[in-house]
Order: sequence, then structure tokens, then C-alpha cells
Amino acid sequence: MVQTRLTRGYIFDIQGFSVHDGPGCRTLVFFKGCSLECPWCSNPEGISFFPEPLYRDSKCTFDGLCVNACPHKAISISKNGESDQLTFNREICAKCNAYDCAKACCSGALNIGGYEISVEDLYAKVIRDRQYWGAAGGITLTGGEPFTQPEFACDMLKRCYDAYIHTAVETCGNVPWKNYEKSLPYIDWIFFDLKTLDESPGHLSICAPSRLSANQSGHPSSSSPVPLILNNARRLAREFTGRMIFRLPVIPGFNDDAENIDRTARFIQSTGRNEINILPLHHLGREKYSLIGKKYYTTDFKIPAKDDLKKIVSQFSSLGINCYIGSDTPF
Ligand code: SF4
Ligand code: SF4
Repeated sequence: MVQTRLTRGYIFDIQGFSVHDGPGCRTLVFFKGCSLECPWCSNPEGISFFPEPLYRDSKCTFDGLCVNACPHKAISISKNGESDQLTFNREICAKCNAYDCAKACCSGALNIGGYEISVEDLYAKVIRDRQYWGAAGGITLTGGEPFTQPEFACDMLKRCYDAYIHTAVETCGNVPWKNYEKSLPYIDWIFFDLKTLDESPGHLSICAPSRLSANQSGHPSSSSPVPLILNNARRLAREFTGRMIFRLPVIPGFNDDAENIDRTARFIQSTGRNEINILPLHHLGREKYSLIGKKYYTTDFKIPAKDDLKKIVSQFSSLGINCYIGSDTPF
């Protein structure tokens, strides 16, 4: 138990009063680090494994306080036409543990996304919400991918489970099986994200990870994550005794074609589970990309029309899969 309380990990947010990620009212804990890099992700600040600068140029006064404070000379200010422009060397920032830049900034332009925390401190934060959870609610670990930090996830889940708190997790499936194994006894619900069953290069180039490493993902970067994801889904469906709900982000032009929906439905059927939550693409995370110095490419994808979502629901239903759309999910 002492060991459990000392385990530390990285998170980037805690949000209370959620009603979309499990039963009842819940507190969501967003883990840092993901082994995929889907361009529609609404939490791109969860993709990198460590804290990183979040910079909002509309608030910047270009006074250079952060430039002087950075011990690694990772920031520079230059001219872009008539305007000033501040640039980070994010490769250097990825190795930083000082974050003096954000401490020096007085204007609110610069913050650090993510922080390290112990299981016990995290538990102390979430337990404050207990009175709002009611009988059905609890915590949901999401991210990022919680199981890229398996010890931290396991110890937090156990800490909550031991306190009779309902526990749910959302996972992308792209981690070695051993990352799940120890946590399973402490999980009540799993949301398992599927993106596509198509392994062709065109599909992989969209959500396959440019930055996968064998350390984090368990397979080399040149291979497809799809077999690992599907193997994990099959095995969880078999060995996990709680409720398992698949999730599918509906990205028009990427995975909403009848063939992929049919393959997805048949795959779910083959696992013996029978629920899927489809999540229509939205662009609410777009602004966050500029904060971490990335471009948002997904504007080219249209938001799915209601009628198209209904067609997907009936396709799943015709194969005996209960399909819920977004926040309509009956938790
Ligand atoms: S995160 Fe670290 S390396 Fe990057 S600018 Fe801030 S202090 Fe410098
Ligand atoms: S310290 Fe803050 S306001 Fe000043 S240049 Fe840096 S980011 Fe901009």
C-alpha cells in the first residue's frame, strides 16, 4: 500500500461533473502520453508523454521574460514582418524539467501543460468530488492513453477500487497486453476505442503514429498498430469481467464507409460484446493545436450529418450491436 501511494505519473487535467464517460456524475483524470497520434484528437496536449509549454500569442507582450528565464535557451523572439514572433525549440522543451519560462511569464501567455503527481495526491484531489458522484458515479481515467503509464494507472485504480469508487477507463488499445493485466481486477468499465479495421497504408498514415517507439507501444514504428489493438480488444472482451463498450470516432471520408462499419460490427460480434458508442467528429479541440505549436489538419474532414449517423446506427443494430450516438448514450 505504501508503494502504491508513492507511485507517480503525469496528468494534464482533472475535470469534474462529467456525464459522458461512464455512469452517473464522474471525475475525469486525463493522463499524459498517447501511443497513437490521431489528427482529430480533441486533447492534443495529451499526446506527448511529458509536460510541455502551452503558448498563446494573443496574450503575449513579447517582453522576453521567458527568454531570459529559460535555462536551456529554448525560446527566441524574432520579427515576422511587422510583428514579433516567439518560437520554442520543443525538442529541448521535451527534456526540460525546469519550466522556468512559465514561472517568469506575467501575462498568462505561457503555461505548462501537464504535471507530475503521486497516486495519493491525485486521490486526494478526486475524492473531493465524491459527494457529487452519487450512487452510480466515480472516476474515469482517460487522456492521452492511461495505459502508457501502467503502474500509475493500476495503483490509482486500486486506490479508488479499495475505497468503493466506481472506476472506468478509456483506452486506444495500442499498448502491450501486460500494461492492462494488473489493472483489470480494479476496473468496472472499459471504453475501448476503435478507429479503423483497415490496415492499408492510406489509413495508417492518418492515425498511425509517427512517433511510436518500441518502448511505449511494444512494436516498431514501421508496423501497423491495428493487429495489436484488435488482439487487445479480443482478449479484454474475454478476460475482463466488467462492462466493455467500444467507441468509434466517426470521421467522414476516413472510417464512415459502409464496409468499415460492417467490419467493425462483425468484429465486435466476434468478441461476444455488443455495445458501441459512436462519437461524431467535432472541431472543438482545434484551438489547442496552436498552443503546442502544431497545425490542425482535420478541418478538411466534415462533421458527420445526422442522417449519416442514423445509417451507421442501423447498420450496427442490424447485426445485433447496441449503438449509441455521442451524449445520447444511456449510462
Ligand atoms: S519548458 Fe524548459 S526548455 Fe522549454 S522554454 Fe520552458 S524552461 Fe525552457
Ligand atoms: S514572458 Fe510571457 S508575455 Fe513575456 S514574451 Fe514570454 S510568453 Fe510572452
